[in-house]
Amino acid sequence: MSNLDDLYREIILDHYRSPRNRGELATPPACRAEGFNPLCGDEITVFIQVENDVLVDIKISGHGCSISQSSASLMSAAVKGKTLDQVHQAIATFKQLMTVHEANIDDPEPVAVDIRALGELAALQGVVKFPVRIKCAILAWNTLDQGLQDFVS
Ligand code: ZN
Repeated sequence: MSNLDDLYREIILDHYRSPRNRGELATPPACRAEGFNPLCGDEITVFIQVENDVLVDIKISGHGCSISQSSASLMSAAVKGKTLDQVHQAIATFKQLMTVHEANIDDPEPVAVDIRALGELAALQGVVKFPVRIKCAILAWNTLDQGLQDFVS
């Protein structure tokens, strides 16, 4: 498991040092949502552009701890170009990953979430060993969720 932990740490650091989809989009046509995690001081602004039920573009700005920023970067890479159904599914799966682990923190049984389907996002599963950091990891996802509500017709 320690090799896997090392790999996960590498992925998180890589996304922290070289965040994907960093920047802003013009609003409109894009819409923006802001999220704040007062426990840690993390701030995330998510810009999304949706066309024909596809999340055609996403940009992230903000600042905060390595977990919050790398989670935002991983999220942007995971959802860009996906249909809104797929995006909502990714949000649900990620939240489930955090929640399931939270409930089973000392339980070595495999979780009900399909880790393989998460790709690099699986790197964040180690965060749940530190419950205070879950809010850091989930901030970008909640912010994206909030932004998507503007596109509900
Ligand atoms: Zn944080």
